[in-house]
Amino acid sequence: MKAVVTALLALVAAQVVSTVHAQDADIVLLNGKIVTLGGAAPLVEALAVRDGKIIAVGRTSEIRTLAGGNTRVIDLAGRTVIPGLIDSHMHAIRAALFYATEVNWIGTASIPEAMARIKAAQQRAKPGQWIVVAGGWTTEQFKEKRRPTQAELLAAAPDNPVYVQLFYSAALLTPAGFKALAIAADADVPPNGRIERDANGNPTGWIAGDNPTISGLFDKLPLPTFEQSVEGTKQFFRELNRLGLTGVSDPGGFNLTAESYQPLFKVWQDQALTVRVVYSLFAQRRGKELEDYQAVTQMLPMGFGNDLLRFNGIGENVAWGIYNNDNPTEAQKEQLYRIYKWAALRRMTVTQHWNSNRSAHHLLDVLERVNAETLIAPLRWSIAHMNDASPENLRRMKALGVGWLMQNAMYFNGEAFLKVRGSEAMRLTPPIMTALKLGLSVGGGTDAHRVMSYNPFVSLQWMVDGKTVGGTLTRDEEQLPSREEALRFYTLGSAWFTFDDDKRGSLERGKLADLAVLTKDYLTVPTGEIGAIESLLTMVGGRIVYAAGPYAQFDEKRP
Ligand SMILES: [Zn+2]
Repeated sequence: MKAVVTALLALVAAQVVSTVHAQDADIVLLNGKIVTLGGAAPLVEALAVRDGKIIAVGRTSEIRTLAGGNTRVIDLAGRTVIPGLIDSHMHAIRAALFYATEVNWIGTASIPEAMARIKAAQQRAKPGQWIVVAGGWTTEQFKEKRRPTQAELLAAAPDNPVYVQLFYSAALLTPAGFKALAIAADADVPPNGRIERDANGNPTGWIAGDNPTISGLFDKLPLPTFEQSVEGTKQFFRELNRLGLTGVSDPGGFNLTAESYQPLFKVWQDQALTVRVVYSLFAQRRGKELEDYQAVTQMLPMGFGNDLLRFNGIGENVAWGIYNNDNPTEAQKEQLYRIYKWAALRRMTVTQHWNSNRSAHHLLDVLERVNAETLIAPLRWSIAHMNDASPENLRRMKALGVGWLMQNAMYFNGEAFLKVRGSEAMRLTPPIMTALKLGLSVGGGTDAHRVMSYNPFVSLQWMVDGKTVGGTLTRDEEQLPSREEALRFYTLGSAWFTFDDDKRGSLERGKLADLAVLTKDYLTVPTGEIGAIESLLTMVGGRIVYAAGPYAQFDEKRP
């Protein structure tokens, strides 16, 4: 009898041990300062990951017991960990297509620094090859506070065609660029544009225009090859990982066709996607918007995809007629209503680009009309931008259950806005804390990369200190969120818009293991240094997609 009991006990013990082994964590992070944004334990020392998810958070002594022989143990040595950042409005798919073949000026502080990047690209370029800076910079970031001249550009790249875009308002080309695009007179410039001339009537090298002009010009540039775009996609997402980003919501954009999505899909199929991408469908043919949505979504239902790549409805350009139109006609509003109505009945999410608070009543009227017939709150619709939103319009959004996608446009545009609108409007732009107090759903982001840098820490710093790239203080103190509130916008806040706030955005048991170990402590570093924070180790679903410095040995890309 005793022998049987002993044998049974041995069996039970063996099972316990094997169960324990099966329960070992894949990775544990110990001895850190982990900002979980979770209700129960906002700050913990340690965390364990298994099968891509967080299985426990707590004290180092507790989490250590979850480590077995095959567990990867990462000593945080006191470093700060945050939930992976999510940009809720970034034109990431387009940025990625060109990343391997473009030059960017993000982070340059003077014209010579910017020109040095052109010169470096010129030295790598073949004769006749285009050098392209597709936006993402502003004159305010340069100490000279002005645009570069064609002479400066020519000195850096005398022979190559060069294209430098400034927002959607102007582009500078070298003479080789003008020649390659066959632009000799105003008639050769795309719609609404003209060749800029100095006081003596001589061309300056700049082409002035607006959205259609600049998109038209860009469309004339040669596209990268499929392979270059696949490579660019991998490189760009790794660059985002370097900055602690683990997710983006992509609202389509100009110069994107169905074909433009193929490199992204290839990277996803190859299991090489290192940022979670949720995307929406931008209006295609003018006047045929609804027909196009109806056709495409027959094969692309709302929510189609997986945790790494997923379809999330329509926008940010829902209908061309009301896009950037502050005075829409009744017919244009009727068309928007029909599209919204169709989307609501199809249980589809909508994200709507809208800039000006002054004209937002047109949009809100249509939203309220649809909502009176079909409740839209469960569908998590959003309005993007509207930096000067009034409390009244934010309240109307709140009543509809429509969220606000807020970006740091004022980081580049604060000085220009101040000139046009004055300090009274500026100090409330954007009204971040008003929205928070109203209980509105708010997502953080950048709108990168043509109109803004994609760096999330620059955006977080701007949220917290209200200062432009040029150092001008723009927002009232009452509109400055705390660091934790800002971080919440960039994580849980952004995750809400894609129905992901129960899966990611905070570091809690059962959530996806998306996180970043930071170079500096986001919570205590001087405010002016937040923008310079980077990630030392970024994890997406438990996979270490980026690692540097003391963690370089964990980098999956390590040669
Ligand atoms: Zn937009």
